[in-house]
Amino acid sequence: MNRLHVVVVGAGVTGLAAAYQLMKTGRADVTIFEASEQVGGTLRSIESERHLFEQGPDSFLARKRVMIDLCTELGLREQLVGTGPLARKTYLVSDGKLYPFPKGTYMGIPLTQEAFEQIPFLSEDGKRRALLDLTMGPDEERDNDSMGELLTRRLGREVVEKIAEAVLAGVHASPIDRLSVAATYPEIGEAARGGSLLRGLQKFVADRQHIAQDDDLPKTAFLTLRGGLSQLASALLSALHGLGATVHTGRAVTSIECSSRACVVRTAGSEITCDAVVVAVPAHRASKLFSAEAVKHALEGFHYASVATVALAYRPRDVLFELDGSGFVVPRREKSDVTACTFVSSKWPHMANREVVTLRAFVGRAEDDQIVGAPDEEILKRVRQDLANWLKADPEPTFTLVTRWNKGMPQYEVGHLARVAELVEVGSRAYPRVIFSGAAYRGVGLPDCAADGIEAAQSVLAMHSS
Ligand SMILES: Cc1cc2nc3c(=O)[nH]c(=O)nc-3n(C[C@H](O)[C@H](O)[C@H](O)COP(=O)(O)OP(=O)(O)OC[C@H]3O[C@@H](n4cnc5c(N)ncnc54)[C@H](O)[C@@H]3O)c2cc1C
Repeated sequence: MNRLHVVVVGAGVTGLAAAYQLMKTGRADVTIFEASEQVGGTLRSIESERHLFEQGPDSFLARKRVMIDLCTELGLREQLVGTGPLARKTYLVSDGKLYPFPKGTYMGIPLTQEAFEQIPFLSEDGKRRALLDLTMGPDEERDNDSMGELLTRRLGREVVEKIAEAVLAGVHASPIDRLSVAATYPEIGEAARGGSLLRGLQKFVADRQHIAQDDDLPKTAFLTLRGGLSQLASALLSALHGLGATVHTGRAVTSIECSSRACVVRTAGSEITCDAVVVAVPAHRASKLFSAEAVKHALEGFHYASVATVALAYRPRDVLFELDGSGFVVPRREKSDVTACTFVSSKWPHMANREVVTLRAFVGRAEDDQIVGAPDEEILKRVRQDLANWLKADPEPTFTLVTRWNKGMPQYEVGHLARVAELVEVGSRAYPRVIFSGAAYRGVGLPDCAADGIEAAQSVLAMHSS
């Protein structure tokens, strides 16, 4: 059988995983086009002040196997590290103060009466209302529930606004009343349909604890790579070179056209004809590559929020506040610029050195992301103001780094699954040789993106063997 020629557009974790999967089978030759000068997309680790800083993701969920398998295959297994012991505690801001999360929560939802009792800032009425869930009937089947609607119905608005919103919506930088349950945490919808949301989630959490973990790996919920997550991008790039793939960086694709027999992929000054294309770029970038109106329109239906990360390093002697946790999250009702903050030196002891203590703050969320467009000094000033309010000190940082991710957070709004199905439908009609893959569609986490890239590769191969 002739080898297929496949073009992969975008070399984030999705595109790299797709290309690697295709090359491994020996059934395809792959050409990758990446617009920026390096591969990795959102994976960006840098070293400064003899300290490692992650500008994008800092870790991945260990229970989704695909990242562990990929790291193992690429010779990175021994580089996998877990969170430090202090990371077992996480804080939440309420009315300007930091409170530790109670034990027994799932994605910010307290699951037991004891957990609710440990929350000093929830009113007695709020606690009673939340516990009504235990005696309510099951939810009906609802395709278009938002997380805000579901949780308000089951637990009352106070729990949603003061606690759950900060974690559930925070991960996606989304308004909780727009976040699709079905596309983000379907287990929450399932638990509510089974009777009590709280009991259903208790069972979900208990069942998950029986999933076998590898003896040689840290037993923490999140893992990362000792040298930073960019190590994964570098290892994938080396493997791709070793397998004979062609990787062009600094070459943005400008258009894709397909006939029934082939596709033509254009960049400034070049064009290449191939059998199939995996498009692994954000949907707002993908929409610019196609002329078919239905496909453009479907891609434009995926919205994004802009966010920025702000790393701050301090001399240890200047840090008079205690950093005994992984960090904190901030509900929208606090009306602050900072949406979350990681105590990097405590969460990831392997990244720390004795000369600096580091924090990483996040700013920007959907419908409230103007701050991301402000100059660095303005962002830093506002971040330091927020941190000073909560940590009761504002030491002078020795190093700061602002990283903007413009339209960097895909929004999984209500109706998301239908929008993905619509894109697959119109895409396969207008461009049957093109597969759309990546964070915009089937999960934003690194394991979901890697799995989606692998799935895209398998779809290309299946398409051409039928
Ligand atoms: C600040 C931040 C923190 C995060 N933290 C975590 C975390 O801790 N854990 C976790 O699991 N997930 C996290 N995520 C989510 C996760 O990092 C992303 O969802 C994932 O990396 C996206 O990978 P991707 O390959 O789909 O897209 P991207 O990483 O966006 O890659 C797309 C690539 O396509 C390229 N491109 C765009 N247009 C073109 C074009 N026309 N031609 C050629 N190339 C093009 C881009 O330059 C880019 O390299 C975080 C995201 C952000 C923004």
